[in-house]
Amino acid sequence: MVTPFIENTEFTPEVLVALRAQIQGEVIVPGDARYDDARQAWNLAVEQRPALIIIVANASDVAASVRFARAQGLGISVQSTGHGVVQPANDNLLIITSRLTEVRVDAETQTAWVEAGALWGMVLEKAQAVGLAPLLGSSPGVGVVGYTLGGGLGWLARKYGLAADSVRAFELVTADGNLRRASADQNSDLFWALRGGGGSFGIVTGMEIQLYPVSTVFAGNLIYPVSLAKTIFARYRDWIASAPEELTSSIVIMNFPPIPAVPEFLRGQTAVIIRGCYTGPVEEGQALLQSWLDWQAPIANLWHAMPFSEAGTISNDPKDPSPGVSSGAWLRDLSDETIDALIQYGVSVNGSSPLVVTEVRHVSGAMARVDKHASAFGNRDASLLLSLIGMAPTPEAAQAVRQHIGQLKTALQPHLTGGVYMNFLEGQEARERTPDAYLPENYRRLMAIKAQYDPDNFFRFSFDIPPVKNAPDGE
Ligand SMILES: Cc1cc2nc3c(=O)[nH]c(=O)nc-3n(C[C@H](O)[C@H](O)[C@H](O)COP(=O)(O)OP(=O)(O)OC[C@H]3O[C@@H](n4cnc5c(N)ncnc54)[C@H](O)[C@@H]3O)c2cc1C
Repeated sequence: MVTPFIENTEFTPEVLVALRAQIQGEVIVPGDARYDDARQAWNLAVEQRPALIIIVANASDVAASVRFARAQGLGISVQSTGHGVVQPANDNLLIITSRLTEVRVDAETQTAWVEAGALWGMVLEKAQAVGLAPLLGSSPGVGVVGYTLGGGLGWLARKYGLAADSVRAFELVTADGNLRRASADQNSDLFWALRGGGGSFGIVTGMEIQLYPVSTVFAGNLIYPVSLAKTIFARYRDWIASAPEELTSSIVIMNFPPIPAVPEFLRGQTAVIIRGCYTGPVEEGQALLQSWLDWQAPIANLWHAMPFSEAGTISNDPKDPSPGVSSGAWLRDLSDETIDALIQYGVSVNGSSPLVVTEVRHVSGAMARVDKHASAFGNRDASLLLSLIGMAPTPEAAQAVRQHIGQLKTALQPHLTGGVYMNFLEGQEARERTPDAYLPENYRRLMAIKAQYDPDNFFRFSFDIPPVKNAPDGE
């Protein structure tokens, strides 16, 4: 008989000896020298105190860990990097996959087998070596599996779609401790749920993904003074209206922090940036950008032809762990009113905005062509994705960022679709807004699949998908 979710569990020495005998990786409990280091997420604003941490060495360790947690009545969290913590891992078992980093690329089938702890940069390097590209996002330091389970929108999104749409198969350990394969032919309900449904259905140990023939791209940043913000946003709206799917782009209000890592001419400054990646012939990309250059010389034009292996330089996201708060929403439009709100709350005048990044990404394209019931992922017909990021070195600073984001969203209300993209939410907001990430019928199906595979909700630290067998309409 399992007692679900004991709080502040302490394990007897005998229990730990028996567990360590089964695990090839590392078993860490509070008080161990490694505990504080191991519980630290990449996002330094996350504070978590698991009852037990297991740094797994292989898929058998994952299965043994899940069985142990069940026997002890512990909830289970999983982390590869800690870039996207939804619920802090408190009083539970935290499974860390960071040592499972095998990546095997098959140039012939244009696929890769990727273990659960691999980072996008590892896949990018191996795939580029044979002229192929994975659908990574802005940061090569993000974990492949966590990103993909939430959807996965990167610089090839308009041409090749969501990372989740390019998964061929998952291997995972479900709540009963069994290792399963989920694909179009095997456990197809789980396969459907994992593509967009997050980490609520099991611990993924590896997955097979499709790669694409992309080697050189034309990509970068066009940096303009913030004084031109309103005109630039309006021009961007017109520019993307006819943009080909080879172009995935964004417009960014960036309040550069006054730190040495930022080039001197931008340090402490606010700028508006046209950012993007063109995957067709370089000359076509150059021609697309020319309309901006003809209109107004920027402070800096950093667009250039580059090997896709350098995709991480486009957004230049922080590599080292940082404390941050992030949020987002799907926008209905880039109307003048939307633009005014983004500028009012995004541009920092004498510290008026705690946001570092206010970005609108132009997506749609390939993502919108996939049937909206083909997988759990929702909001496929939306095309403008708002991403908001603020630094949060203290809990008070985090609170100030959240409050500011709340005010911006209130101001934007008529211009939000009501849908959210789970990868850009975190913490409480991610839990509360989970249903808004899905079509109502897809959310009901997710709850039913959850009831089948994890009826006791052991994996309850990801998106909020309760196990409900026959949820009525409207739930
Ligand atoms: C700097 C930065 C840049 C980003 N850029 C993009 C972007 O361009 N596009 C985009 O779509 N997203 C982006 N994101 C969001 C990112 O995709 C999510 O935060 C994602 O969850 C991170 O995955 P992770 O494994 O690195 O993080 P983790 O915090 O380790 O994992 C996040 C969650 O994923 C689930 N998970 C992880 N591993 C497993 C597993 N093996 N089995 C089951 N569940 C698992 C768990 O629920 C876990 O809580 C970015 C985030 C940051 C911080």
